[in-house]
Amino acid sequence: MDGILRRSGELLTQAGACAWGCADGAWLLPRMSEDARGRALERTPGLRRLLCAAFPYARGDEAAGRFSRYARGEDYHRAIMRRLAPVAEALEALCPEAVFTPWADSSPFPEVYAAARCGVGKLGKNGLLLTRTAGSYVFLGFLATNAPLPATGGEITSCRGCGLCERSCPGGALHGGAVDPEKCLSALTQKRGALTPEQENLLRRGGMLWGCDRCQLCCPENQGLTAAPLPEFHRPEPLLTDEDLALGDRAFRRKFDGRAFVWRGVQPLRRNAALLREDDGEDTSADHTPHGA
Ligand code: SF4
Ligand code: SF4
Repeated sequence: MDGILRRSGELLTQAGACAWGCADGAWLLPRMSEDARGRALERTPGLRRLLCAAFPYARGDEAAGRFSRYARGEDYHRAIMRRLAPVAEALEALCPEAVFTPWADSSPFPEVYAAARCGVGKLGKNGLLLTRTAGSYVFLGFLATNAPLPATGGEITSCRGCGLCERSCPGGALHGGAVDPEKCLSALTQKRGALTPEQENLLRRGGMLWGCDRCQLCCPENQGLTAAPLPEFHRPEPLLTDEDLALGDRAFRRKFDGRAFVWRGVQPLRRNAALLREDDGEDTSADHTPHGA
């Protein structure tokens, strides 16, 4: 199985991964809820190992703006699946008795912990995985397999724990690596429906239409990164006009099909733009220019 593991690494690297590794299912499965374990085993009967790959989307030095860097490019679920599926097929062809199931983002695995256990990076107090060459600016993809590949990781390592991310968080959402979604600006910009007055204030103060990068931008482990972002994620900030935000949900989704900020539909973006416009006291619309956050 050493040869298959080596080939897995070559294929994942060719697919654009800046780091990869393999964790033992015997470590992973007991740490999952019964429901999550059931989902994983249904897709990969006899699951024994989990391969993880990190795909870089930014280096953090892109211009500031009102869209988080992760949301400026293509929908990462699609893009990562497009990169992982051929790897899974190639490994199944090499290893016909095995199954390799690709997952991107919506997996049943505790993704950040599993990636750290694979040795792909460190656990950050900002709740993210910190890779060596792309820091936390990565999307994680997984291949679950029943092949008994050698595990590559070991004990999970953590970041230096400087606490800058906690102190930089505008909503006070970070505590020891856990993120409170009711206080996290990134989660709130994506939330459908009404926000509380406190949450609306946070959104106005944060000045973002979608997402928040502060706990990444301040992190010392995100400096001096060398991995090049993958081209489908390295795009200028989206420009949304008033007309775009007035579209019905279906028309909005159709127009921006394949973009990362579309998955909750038009309503959260329309609300966020209205809140920012109120705060600016003028019509900034969503046809925004980068601000100096
Ligand atoms: S994304 Fe922003 S609001 Fe959310 S935890 Fe990080 S710094 Fe805080
Ligand atoms: S800012 Fe400091 S504490 Fe937060 S993730 Fe980075 S190294 Fe860890």
